[in-house]
Amino acid sequence: MSTPTDAVTMDKIVSLCKRRGFIFQSSEIYGGLASTYDYGHYGVLLKSNVKAEWWRAVLQERDDMVALDAAILMHPRTWEASGHLAGFTDPLVQCLGKCKKRWREDHLREAIEAEGGDPDAPLVCPECGGELSEPRNFNLMFETHMGPVQDEGSQVFLRPETAQGIFVNFKNVMQFARKRPPFGIAQVGKSFRNEITPGNFIFRTREFEQMEIEFFVPPAQAPEWHQRWMDERLSWYTDLGIRADHLRLRRHEGDELSHYSSATSDIEYLFPMGWSELEGIANRGDFDLTQHAEYSREKLDYVDPGTGERYVPHVIEPSAGADRGTLAFMVDAYDEEQVEGRERVLLRLHPRLAPVKAAVLPLVNKDGQPEKARAIYEELRKRMPAEFDTGGSIGKRYRRQDEIGTPWGVTVDHQSMEDDTVTLRDRDSLEQTRIPAAEVADELERRLHAEWRSPKPVTAG
Ligand code: ATP
Repeated sequence: MSTPTDAVTMDKIVSLCKRRGFIFQSSEIYGGLASTYDYGHYGVLLKSNVKAEWWRAVLQERDDMVALDAAILMHPRTWEASGHLAGFTDPLVQCLGKCKKRWREDHLREAIEAEGGDPDAPLVCPECGGELSEPRNFNLMFETHMGPVQDEGSQVFLRPETAQGIFVNFKNVMQFARKRPPFGIAQVGKSFRNEITPGNFIFRTREFEQMEIEFFVPPAQAPEWHQRWMDERLSWYTDLGIRADHLRLRRHEGDELSHYSSATSDIEYLFPMGWSELEGIANRGDFDLTQHAEYSREKLDYVDPGTGERYVPHVIEPSAGADRGTLAFMVDAYDEEQVEGRERVLLRLHPRLAPVKAAVLPLVNKDGQPEKARAIYEELRKRMPAEFDTGGSIGKRYRRQDEIGTPWGVTVDHQSMEDDTVTLRDRDSLEQTRIPAAEVADELERRLHAEWRSPKPVTAG
């Protein structure tokens, strides 16, 4: 496995997130709740931008997608049909050694018996030989109750994926969206999984946000659309500045495939802890619609009005994590460099992802500069998220903006008071250019929509 030679480590990201108010430990004043995080101001803005860019790419710039926002609580039969109820209630053991893999205890014992061994002997991890945990009947779904009486009839689950909300609405959408396969339904929302091994900051948490598409296609077109979605989704990350050599596609092999999937590929990113899944792109066949049709007794197929052909569409599912994506964008953007003998820490975020696009800063806090800067700021913020900052030395203010990834600084100085020009400071190159104050908003808008590539060097080996 390749290891990053970047300056970035997960500890540095965690500490930057805390220092600059991106992400905090949840319920910190009570000692925190394990693997649960709260997004602060800049974290909210960054993650919102990630989601907005996703919506832009999968919905706004296409003709074949509609949006959905389904409830987190769903009819319990949903989880019977989807296989989550049965699939997640097996006796699970987990490797406490190196590989941390989870295994079905019953499967391990069956395999030993099939080879003539003693099925009651102590088990070790078949992958790395590590010690295994005690078996637990583990259901990944969080369970709760609806209404005042807590009995089996009131049991509901927090959804472990947003996907099922899409499948159960297939009929509604078909009726109202005026779409025919190939077309997709896109949704962003919270999902919950009682993960056995959460960790690596916001990489794996028990409550997280997903950005999922279920793309319905005529069965014969499924392989082609699977490939198309892999290409589309990979480009989305690189278009938003992630270095191509830090991304890869990994196909799932035989027994790694989920019960519903005929083919799955993961987009993986080279995180500080190594290559890890960022997004899964699965060919789910007709599994979900067929299951829900059977359990609900509703017809969930499609009749082609041209040919009269009736079929259950096949589904391609690009399923991304909004938090995991946000983490990848931050990790890829994190940089350190020496500037005039001082260390500069910065996030080289794509300008469209940056929480704040420009900071308007008077060089000194007197001589009419703050008033002039404030007026420029008030015009600019009508066009893009901006900040006005008068606190502390100019160097300190730049350092703060660098750390939150603000791509441009607009500085008002003594010359501005004479000729109505300002300097534009570029976060990445540190280049300063002087332009008329009246042109600032147009110029920054132009830069915001220009193509952008990370200036960070290639480091994957
Ligand atoms: P993993 O193998 O990492 O647990 P998965 O294969 O179970 O992930 P999927 O069910 O394919 O994940 O979910 C799609 C996407 O949702 C993942 O690629 C990831 O970005 C995100 N995701 C899944 N589980 C979590 C989690 N516990 N915390 C944060 N994001 C998650």
